[in-house]
Amino acid sequence: MPTPVVAGNWKMNTTLDEAQRLASEVRDGTGSDVGCDVILCPPFISLQAVWNAVAGSQVKVGAQNMHHESSGAFTGEISPPMIQSLCDHVLLGHSERRQLFGDTDQTVNLKVKAALAHALRPILCVGETLEQRESGRAQEVVANQVREGLSGVEDITRLIVAYEPVWAIGTGQAATPETAEEIMGGAVKDTLSALFGDAASEVPLLYGGSVNPGNAASFAAQPSIHGGLVGGASLQADQFLEIVRVVAEAKV
Ligand code: PEP
Repeated sequence: MPTPVVAGNWKMNTTLDEAQRLASEVRDGTGSDVGCDVILCPPFISLQAVWNAVAGSQVKVGAQNMHHESSGAFTGEISPPMIQSLCDHVLLGHSERRQLFGDTDQTVNLKVKAALAHALRPILCVGETLEQRESGRAQEVVANQVREGLSGVEDITRLIVAYEPVWAIGTGQAATPETAEEIMGGAVKDTLSALFGDAASEVPLLYGGSVNPGNAASFAAQPSIHGGLVGGASLQADQFLEIVRVVAEAKV
């Protein structure tokens, strides 16, 4: 089984001071034998401060996005070499990037390949909208996002996949653990296995969408769920640490 993972997506929240404080609180609450990978994804501006705050601890750092090119005339963008020394992970294809900032399966695929080429661990985010679910297309949509996002990728050793149904993100309406398992044990796992064979079984699969300390254990109890991608609840150190604790416990 893959090492369990709990990642916190801080989105466009926290000032530099707040980020430093939150990272220090998570660091202080995370022991040396935490039992899962703990990843903090602060805004770009706070990557350095968070990297410094967690140095020497078990806590890892991720960016929330990046451009696929290494440098050039891309005003306002951040490249893989720029974040490479400040983090180990990068969220790619988050539904907010897809819906609000024009990310497509094709640009996400370029970013995944760039992340791998720069020794970063991509966390490929996939998930269907409510309309796609209600029209019975959830499995097909997610399978397609996984396939397209990984087109041309040969080695998935460092890959993480997060299934985040769009209708469950930030709404307080999490999927049921059974619904998440249906997609993660179905579209996500089957597509990875069809493309990469046995290597697929070592890819951590995270559920995301209104995860909180009260529901995290029921997701982690599912066989195809190895952890969580946490938005809102990752902004409170005590809530985030409790999610880390219950996921680690469920996956022992
Ligand atoms: C997210 O931002 O990836 C997320 C899952 O948010 P929330 O936990 O707030 O639904």
